[in-house]
Amino acid sequence: MHDILPEEQKYWRYVLKKAESIIEDYGFERIDTPIVESTELFLRGVGENTDIVEKEMYSFKTRGGDDLSLRPEGTAGVVRAYIENGMQVRPHPVKLFYYGPMFRHDQPQAGRYRQHWQLAVETIGDASEIVDAELIFVGYKILESLGLKNYNVQINSLGDASSRAVYVRALKDYYKPRLKKVCTQCKSRFKNNILRMLDCKEETCREAAKDAPPIFDFLNEDAKKHFKRLIEILDECKIPYILNQNLVRGQDYYTHTIFEFVPEEKEVEKSLDGKPVQIVSSGLALGGGGRYDRLIDMLGGPKTPAAGWALGVDRIVTALKQNNINVPEIGVKPKVFLAQLGDAAKKKSLMLFENMRKAGIEVKSSLGRDSIKSQLRIANRLGVRYTLIFGQKEAIDGTIIIREMDTGIQETVLLDKVVEEMKKRLKNNG
Ligand code: AMP
Repeated sequence: MHDILPEEQKYWRYVLKKAESIIEDYGFERIDTPIVESTELFLRGVGENTDIVEKEMYSFKTRGGDDLSLRPEGTAGVVRAYIENGMQVRPHPVKLFYYGPMFRHDQPQAGRYRQHWQLAVETIGDASEIVDAELIFVGYKILESLGLKNYNVQINSLGDASSRAVYVRALKDYYKPRLKKVCTQCKSRFKNNILRMLDCKEETCREAAKDAPPIFDFLNEDAKKHFKRLIEILDECKIPYILNQNLVRGQDYYTHTIFEFVPEEKEVEKSLDGKPVQIVSSGLALGGGGRYDRLIDMLGGPKTPAAGWALGVDRIVTALKQNNINVPEIGVKPKVFLAQLGDAAKKKSLMLFENMRKAGIEVKSSLGRDSIKSQLRIANRLGVRYTLIFGQKEAIDGTIIIREMDTGIQETVLLDKVVEEMKKRLKNNG
């Protein structure tokens, strides 16, 4: 788990602001669900035999005896909220988005955290391939708007439950004679999560997966039609996609389309701190999602088709830095510094600061300090145009000194008039 320090915040804000504005333009509304849900929800929703549920959940018993887990992903919770709040009566599709931390007790490594942040969207109540296309399109446009250009969309179709069952049987026949060659984890995946053998990153497992039968051969006509039309739409809107037959994703609830936003697999020349270096794309997905037409009824709601994705914000922030993308600084540059000296002035300073802030003046201060020298040093470092010097004598007289920093020219004005005077000066000088 990692901290996000003040100097990092500009990246996070940049991502959220850009992404939320696109998401809202496409009609998604914000929903927030609790970070903690019943463990049962994830067992049933995400799937008992998935890596996420089997190995990565932070689960605990409460004092009241409930079995709860920190959410490892957001879709199951949003579907629970959809059912519990009777959202089925709303006009469909119901388009939702959310942003928040997810928790997975994974092996910590580059780009993989135990608490990571996801920005996610869900479109509930529409089975059409145009929904899948819109989701992919919006996700891609968000990455593009952030300045991240070298990304592809990898897509695949898992078909519906019946075609998947036939495919799983074919995979069992394929892998049986190859079981000796795969990693220990894949040996247990063979029994209860065989699809995930296809995207294991171990070299021996990649080799073993090479000649696996493609899932397309097992899709029924409806599933093929859905996928074909999706591809036609993606062609039409010029989204660069790659068909990846070995893409399976980590949750059991997916049906039909699944996809991931992945960096292009190539070495890029970059210059960091003036030194040319080679960055090999780590291949870590910046986001992923797909269709989950069975999840809502599996969790006790009416049969309702749905689809969604989640972007990994931690990884997006890393990518922004690796690509040297400039992001706007947070906060405005102060134009005025309020320096105070002596007890009487200090007492009145907080109210004076507030009056200036309310008047729209970008002002900074360091009210805890007593020495005027150290306060002027801060004012210089901040590069303010004016420093207000509020000393013992001025506090008694009801005045204050305005010092123009460039010229060193000082003028004493009435305390009551200083806000107006500063507004006037800042307006005249831009
Ligand atoms: P998933 O729910 O596994 O589909 O994850 C959606 C996105 O969240 C991924 O594509 C990653 O960008 C990000 N993500 C997932 N797990 C982690 C993790 N442990 N650390 C950082 N980012 C993650």
